[in-house]
Amino acid sequence: MAPRALFILGSTGSIGQSTLELVRRFSDTFTVEGLVAGKRVDTFARDIREFRPKFAAVQDERALVALKQELGLSTLADSYEGTLLGSGSDSICNAIRESSAPVVVAAIVGMAGLPGVMAAAEAGKIIALANKESLVVAGKLVTSTVDDHGATIVPVDSEHSAIYQCLQGLPVSRRSELASVILTSSGGPFRTTPKEDFAEITVEQALKHPKWSMGAKITIDSATMMNKALEVIEAHWLFSMPPDAIEVVVHPEHIIHSFVRFCDGSVLGQMAVPDMRGPISLAINYPHGRLSGAMPHLDLHTIGSLHFEGVDPQRFPSVGRAFEVLRSGTGAPAVFNAANEVAVQAFLEGKIAFLAIERLVYQALEQFADTHYETLGEVLALCDEVTAWTRGKM
Ligand code: NAD
Ligand code: MG
Repeated sequence: MAPRALFILGSTGSIGQSTLELVRRFSDTFTVEGLVAGKRVDTFARDIREFRPKFAAVQDERALVALKQELGLSTLADSYEGTLLGSGSDSICNAIRESSAPVVVAAIVGMAGLPGVMAAAEAGKIIALANKESLVVAGKLVTSTVDDHGATIVPVDSEHSAIYQCLQGLPVSRRSELASVILTSSGGPFRTTPKEDFAEITVEQALKHPKWSMGAKITIDSATMMNKALEVIEAHWLFSMPPDAIEVVVHPEHIIHSFVRFCDGSVLGQMAVPDMRGPISLAINYPHGRLSGAMPHLDLHTIGSLHFEGVDPQRFPSVGRAFEVLRSGTGAPAVFNAANEVAVQAFLEGKIAFLAIERLVYQALEQFADTHYETLGEVLALCDEVTAWTRGKM
């Protein structure tokens, strides 16, 4: 069988680089047809030289100029040794629609990833979805577009991949046996930190995740547990689960990546070392199953014991908020996400304190209560409005 072509959005990031590592390792199985990144042109130029995709694009014109410089091209050039170069969301979305690659890896961070996910859905692709924010912001729009165009979403987020794996073998006709999904959380770096110390948390402390090495935004989201909040909303759209059938449990070892609960009282979980190459490989290889040696061996003797505890609503109120936001049936999830993105960026830049992240998110939810949207244009406009408002609050 010819290797399967991948179109990778966010290729210079943590998920993107792990995907490319899998392509290198399983070069008989995968090739790269498209690469998309934000502004990090040094890594990007190196990857273009190595993988020789048909198409490569960066987020804007300025980054494209820098990329051409890095590749030793004149500013007028439009390609590099057979790779067509582009910039901006429209050019990227057109390339996704025209591409013959069956799989799009959605690994851009934040709501900037939404247009690419929508284009992949419209083009009927298999979407290896890491970009949870696109489902949080526009879950209904994304899932209905996926259904209308015969596309498929395979989750890359480790918890959702675990649930997806636990549900394999459960035919649609027996779906009523599924009682709930249980998302696990490592609890992040401040699982045992007293609330009174939260005010003093520094960027450096928040960027030290105990279990995962990831991009900066999701690492901060893990520290506030906003990541789990976003994942509750993501699970709602991926598995059509009502809010009452989504549970969260803190599991500090983070060896069980999530569970499903059945109507007879059984609970099934998926275990693995915390390594994103497992979920990524399952998604990019869909529907062909597992790739031998995608992740390191899990040694149960070394792990010894596993622990579980509830989420402390006093210290991590965002998880409870996610359920409220979901139940509201309004555009609140988009507001929740957009305000968080702005606040996290400001925290990373040293402009606001750790606790100001959640404060700003809740203020935005109050300010934009009862918003609704139908179209992609409307939700993007709402996100822009929330972004501007949240910035104005700093
Ligand atoms: P990252 O910050 O390491 O990488 C983000 C990528 O997106 C980079 O390639 C960056 O250049 C690109 N990008 C940013 N803005 C862009 C824009 N406007 N246009 C084009 N490209 C743009 O992030 P990450 O940790 O790899 O996470 C990516 C996504 O995957 C996030 O949605 C995150 O929540 C999700 N996710 C990540 C992990 C993980 O282990 N890293 C696990 C689960 C889910
Ligand atoms: Mg996750």
